[in-house]
Amino acid sequence: MIRFEHVTKRYADGTTAVDDLSFHVAEGELVTLVGPSGCGKTTTMKMVNRLIEPTSGRILLDGEDITAVDPVRLRRRIGYVIQQVGLFPHRTVLDNTATVCHLLGWPRKKARARAAELLDLVGLDPAVHGGRYPEQLSGGQRQRVGVARALAADPPVLLMDEPFGAVDPVVRERLQNEFLRLQSQVRKTVLFVTHDIEEAVRLGDRIAVYGEGRIAQFDAPTVVLGAP
Ligand code: ADP
Ligand code: ADP
Repeated sequence: MIRFEHVTKRYADGTTAVDDLSFHVAEGELVTLVGPSGCGKTTTMKMVNRLIEPTSGRILLDGEDITAVDPVRLRRRIGYVIQQVGLFPHRTVLDNTATVCHLLGWPRKKARARAAELLDLVGLDPAVHGGRYPEQLSGGQRQRVGVARALAADPPVLLMDEPFGAVDPVVRERLQNEFLRLQSQVRKTVLFVTHDIEEAVRLGDRIAVYGEGRIAQFDAPTVVLGAP
């Protein structure tokens, strides 16, 4: 589903953030990218939806070189969730969730029905939380809205960059469990960035362990943990 072929990213100041990276993520697989800060995880992620262009190498999505795909069409196929989910402060939770559907020109009623369905899926009550504004939600709830919004147009691919990094450990564990349950229903192809090895192990079908712009190890959690 997602294939990196000898991808290198060198920033203008000469920093090589990602160095000759090749890997493959299968359809419906959840891969966690784990490693210390500054080792190239976010750069890897942002190259998939073309927020960053590789210096060399290529990235294929479903067998198609992403540079050949119209950027709007590309982002329609990719949901994106980041740590500080940027919700529109003056729009309700329901409208925030329906953003992509509105952009795609769905009829208003259909967009709102889809948003309500998604809020329910991430554990929020559309009747209770849908009419609130982002500032009226807890941090954990805002992240759930971010996940719901990313899923609204039913993209096959989900990019998640430390989505649960800013909430306290108890809430984080609950969000992780909810996300695993959600993933068992929706089966997206997921790249999930974290610097927390426990989170990587709990969520990943496979784990890409980063070091200095490269993947040092790419295996199932049991193998990474060195289980017999
Ligand atoms: P991670 O997500 O693992 O923390 P990043 O992909 O954000 O790592 O960064 C990898 C390396 O690239 C770091 O050394 C970082 O300082 C550098 N870097 C990231 N963005 C830029 C940029 N826009 N310009 C120059 N260097 C950058
Ligand atoms: P979560 O576990 O989802 O992060 P919290 O423990 O932070 O939730 O919040 C618990 C409850 O308090 C939630 O039901 C939420 O609706 C409510 N709440 C939190 N912050 C606010 C706020 N700023 N305004 C209104 N209600 C809030």
